[in-house]
Amino acid sequence: MLSRIDLRGRVPAPVELRAVLPRAEVDVDAVLHRVRPIVDDVAARGVAAVLDATERLDRIRPERVRVPVEELTAALAGLDPSVRAALEETIARARAVHADQRRVDVTTRVVPGGTVTERWVPVARVGLYAPGGLAVYPSSVVMNVVPAQTAGVESLVVCSPPQAEHGGRPHPTILAACALLGVTEVWAVGGAQAVALLSYGGTDTDGAELAPVDLITGPGNIYVTAAKRLLRGLVGIDSEAGPTEIAILADDTADARHVAADLISQAEHDTLAASVLVTTSEELADAVDAELARQVEATKHTERISTALRGKQSGCVLVSTVDDGLRVVDAYAAEHLEIQTADARAVAARVRNAGAVFVGAYSPVSLGDYCAGSNHVLPTGGCARHSSGLSVQTFLRGIHVIDYDERALREVADKVVALATAEDLPAHGQAVTARFDQTPLDEK
Ligand code: NAD
Repeated sequence: MLSRIDLRGRVPAPVELRAVLPRAEVDVDAVLHRVRPIVDDVAARGVAAVLDATERLDRIRPERVRVPVEELTAALAGLDPSVRAALEETIARARAVHADQRRVDVTTRVVPGGTVTERWVPVARVGLYAPGGLAVYPSSVVMNVVPAQTAGVESLVVCSPPQAEHGGRPHPTILAACALLGVTEVWAVGGAQAVALLSYGGTDTDGAELAPVDLITGPGNIYVTAAKRLLRGLVGIDSEAGPTEIAILADDTADARHVAADLISQAEHDTLAASVLVTTSEELADAVDAELARQVEATKHTERISTALRGKQSGCVLVSTVDDGLRVVDAYAAEHLEIQTADARAVAARVRNAGAVFVGAYSPVSLGDYCAGSNHVLPTGGCARHSSGLSVQTFLRGIHVIDYDERALREVADKVVALATAEDLPAHGQAVTARFDQTPLDEK
């Protein structure tokens, strides 16, 4: 079922390797022409433009966009108890992990009388996008809200698309998740219009105000991503999320049933989702193919999954050794990387590029999607080479506080002047010497 790339005996250098490995091509630029008018319209007309776009794209025109707080409470009361218990467990585990990510301010005494402090300050207001097109993701609400709250963000708003079958409100499990997390500001808006509304702010039909945010986080489809690209700068954005990816590095000790189940689980997200197996064992590759054929037929979203697995973004890469496999997965830089080899912990410790690493037979990606405690908003499309997933750090800014006294500045003044002169910026040097030399600058 998976197309094969045989790199046994020859693993190219990383740049060449990246070119031969399977990967989804998502052309965000190609939809900018559709998204720009939506963004411009929301900038000009606010909520009226949001409602027009919503009617056109979500096939519903809610009377108001802000969700009343009582409806959040009602959604929680109506939530299936087993889903509530699972969400509570997810929240508790995520809170435990994210609490340990809190940063402390560090002061470095550079010289006597001269210190630099890195002060961590939360972003003031954040907009969190919870997708709600093909599927609804209350887990994504948890993954965005928990690190923001843990960072100390004071004001946060959640946006999620209105659902026609729920009277123009976001899906009830999204609302219930918000209630469980203590989020009180929720707006029923999705897609590019949500990103634009968060960026520019707006006034609802009943006068409720959405104040513009400083940062927008959360995954979404290509239109959400395109709007983030257009508005980056006016607001901060976490990343441009592409289709989800799993890579599995496996040897002949891996269980083909588990490997196939995990490849299928990510393919279930999207027809563009990527499932990549990197293995030293041709026997395992054959067994996984047989398992895929059997398991895909038996699961719910057969068509979506088959399309994703047969797509050019998915495949099986044969390598000679686990070391070669590591070179391949490092070049690929998967959003999710499973290590299913003998001594998986030692192999995992050598991974350089991945959004998250799942170690051994009992740490599947689905665990990380929901209940591991880790964050599931992770870099896609090879961005794990340079970026991290969502964390408390995403919602903090490190401000350097420079505090030198007269003696400390005097001691280093000649060095500042030398560098300023070298850069042909003499006024920079003069700004220092003026403090020690009382001669007016224009008499020099
Ligand atoms: P979505 O909420 O991102 O998008 C739905 C919105 O798209 C709608 O409200 C609509 O306004 C807009 N839209 C639809 N068609 C449009 C068009 N032709 N032009 C302009 N706008 C249009 O929901 P989705 O579509 O289900 O996508 C969710 C994405 O998020 C998936 O790709 C999923 O894999 C991803 N996701 C990623 C993570 C992660 O952690 N990386 C987690 C959950 C979901």
